[in-house]
Amino acid sequence: MSNIKLEVYSYLKQYKELFGRDIFIDFDQYSNYTSSNNTFYKNKRSLDIFENNINLCKKCNIANNRNNFVFGVGDPGADLFLVGEAPGKQEDLEGFPFVGQAGKLLDKILAAININRKQGVYIANVIKCRPPKNRDPLQSEIDECIPFLQEQINIINPKLILVLGKVAAKALLNINIALNDMRNITYKYNDIPLRVTYHPAALLRNPNLKKHTWDDFKWVKKHLGY
Ligand code: URA
Repeated sequence: MSNIKLEVYSYLKQYKELFGRDIFIDFDQYSNYTSSNNTFYKNKRSLDIFENNINLCKKCNIANNRNNFVFGVGDPGADLFLVGEAPGKQEDLEGFPFVGQAGKLLDKILAAININRKQGVYIANVIKCRPPKNRDPLQSEIDECIPFLQEQINIINPKLILVLGKVAAKALLNINIALNDMRNITYKYNDIPLRVTYHPAALLRNPNLKKHTWDDFKWVKKHLGY
């Protein structure tokens, strides 16, 4: 018997000793995977394949100092796609976007509109490797990296893209105006509606911006019909 068959056999044998012939499945845990949710499954597979194809990228110098290529995280069938700028120290260490202080605040804001990384939102950055000392990404780095984000957006095909902060907004929209002037405008990105709001790190620096951000997220909630 092959190793995998042996493993399955001994697992089932143990299971039978514990529970008899009844099989218990926690459907809540697998609710995202049911056949009625083919989009989730199909997109997850495409994202996994894509990540495997690109995660050894060394197209620019910042790749040489990374601990992790920070691909993205969240629900592959999400209606909402959040775009950040680039991984910071914690993101580089853990390999996921927005896991530091700003990310914790972002999670609270998302919870307030009843979505989270497991269901309802996908999060990725324009740049997948941490720039040294968190400096702004160079245009050459953006040019190399942005096709990865574009492909992630293509795969997920969300109902709305929400861009966090000016650097990411400038990279996606090719405009250079004050962030406050970008808010409350529905742009289009490959025919997908796109809005811009403050980066959560800006809210940590200046809590007065929280009210505006909350207005923006209330708009998101309404737009998505939550
Ligand atoms: N800031 C970002 O823009 N992205 C992250 O992943 C973390 C902080």
